[in-house]
Amino acid sequence: MHELGIAQNILDIVRQAVPENLAPDIRKIRIRVGQFAGVIPESLDFCFGVMAEESGMKQAALLIEEVPTACRCRDCGREFTLKEWVFLCPHCGGANLEVTSGKELEVVDIELVDHGGEAS
Ligand SMILES: [Zn+2]
Repeated sequence: MHELGIAQNILDIVRQAVPENLAPDIRKIRIRVGQFAGVIPESLDFCFGVMAEESGMKQAALLIEEVPTACRCRDCGREFTLKEWVFLCPHCGGANLEVTSGKELEVVDIELVDHGGEAS
């Protein structure tokens, strides 16, 4: 399953960013997924939930933000976002498109529980 591999990726990134002993403190993981990545958010959320629990991040919730797919037309050089699954340039009708963003997956933000105390 596609989403399983992505969930694994996210966990790998989170593990590199957060020391292991803080894993149970992770509350929210905000990610950005391009629409072009073909990810089904519900499915990803489910896979992640199972894997996060196995990884000791029992309270980690995934916040999925979908970003539109941006393309550049190689024929006329203009950039635009794809609104539908129509891979044609809206300016010149060319089909020679390059996806410039919207197929990536990135971890934007990791939020840990606030133990308080040390602030200010
Ligand atoms: Zn064009």
